[in-house]
Amino acid sequence: MLKKTFLAAVILLSLSCSAQKSAMVSSAEATRIENFLASDELAGRRPGTPGIEKAAAFIADEMRKAGLKPLPGASGYLQEFSVLRPKMTLLKAEVNGADFDTKNIIVITTKKDFKVNEKSGFAVKRITPADVSAPNALGRFAQKLVSGKEPVIVLVDTSFAPAFGRLMGLKRSLFQNAPDAVFLLSNNLPATFTIKAEHTFEELKLANVVGMLPGKSKPNEQVIFSGHYDHLGIGKPVEGDSIFNGANDDASGITSMLLLAQHFAKQKNNARTLLFAAFTAEESGGFGATYFSRQLNPEEVMAMFNIEMVGTESKWGRNSAYITGFEKSSMGTILQAALKGTGFEFYPDPYPQQQLFYRSDNATLARLGVPAHTISTSKMDVEPHYHKPSDEVKTLDMENLAQVTEAIAKSAATIISGKETPTRVKE
Ligand SMILES: [Zn+2]
Repeated sequence: MLKKTFLAAVILLSLSCSAQKSAMVSSAEATRIENFLASDELAGRRPGTPGIEKAAAFIADEMRKAGLKPLPGASGYLQEFSVLRPKMTLLKAEVNGADFDTKNIIVITTKKDFKVNEKSGFAVKRITPADVSAPNALGRFAQKLVSGKEPVIVLVDTSFAPAFGRLMGLKRSLFQNAPDAVFLLSNNLPATFTIKAEHTFEELKLANVVGMLPGKSKPNEQVIFSGHYDHLGIGKPVEGDSIFNGANDDASGITSMLLLAQHFAKQKNNARTLLFAAFTAEESGGFGATYFSRQLNPEEVMAMFNIEMVGTESKWGRNSAYITGFEKSSMGTILQAALKGTGFEFYPDPYPQQQLFYRSDNATLARLGVPAHTISTSKMDVEPHYHKPSDEVKTLDMENLAQVTEAIAKSAATIISGKETPTRVKE
């Protein structure tokens, strides 16, 4: 009895060993890329540091070696832009002829001298309790109201007083052309008001890294593979280690994206155009993905595979991953169907309470209607190294990373060929 079980175990073990090697994607290649991106030399890839610039140069070089082309009109793979970091030096307000507590005002502007009154013609919007289902959704709703092109005054219902200060987060960094916005903790628009603010600005230069494989027969239909290459930089030491290497978050996603680029470049049979993007500043507000999304026509994007934290085994073990926002488009079921018989399995996100769909770069394109989902294997409830200096390569399973990459490639086959098109995301 014992012997038989032992023998069965040996057979099973050898079977699973032979199944564990990815034939399509080399784990040695994955290790080479991951080792560089997560090395101490890059000092945690924080935006605005030399470390992230080295990472960008490396990713661009990998794209070139893989045979990707720069975007039309671009001279290279770096998609450069700036954000401004405002520092307020003055805020004054008069409402209906009397001084108004400036704690109840937030001014978002890229102008050094800003002034608004009742005659300025700003659009007026409101945030009422009915708009915000959970307290932590206030910021997201507010962000939506100020992400148009018009200057706006937002009246925030006074029941949000305890959370009002959190909206300051919206002015941590701004695009250079960000429209003016004023949040006023008030239930009514005052008949007369004057608000003055003065700011100084620090400019932060940022860059995404983007390459493409033009489609053979449907070049105007795009499929995006992406991850973010920024991380948290250097922080408070934990057990003597102060470098947040971000090996899993998200050097693993960038590694997977680059391996997919190599794979599809060799295949040379993509009907649709494939875009490969390494986003910057995900951890500090998603600026990379937002800038990227403004350079394309969302109607032409058929699907987005955003890859986040695929360096560890999922809760179901190897050969599996999950898709965030599974129910928001038909993309998940298309991927599952394409994986039938391959030995890989993609599941709906098992951590819906964590709102992962909204916490990564896919959300930016999803808000524009694109079937844009994040694929991950991270055990969000128990992942021990998440956002810690200990998120290092030695904690990752590189063979699994290669396998998950193969799974993503296979899952995308019918979308890349143009046979399947996921439904759009409706919010
Ligand atoms: Zn991440």
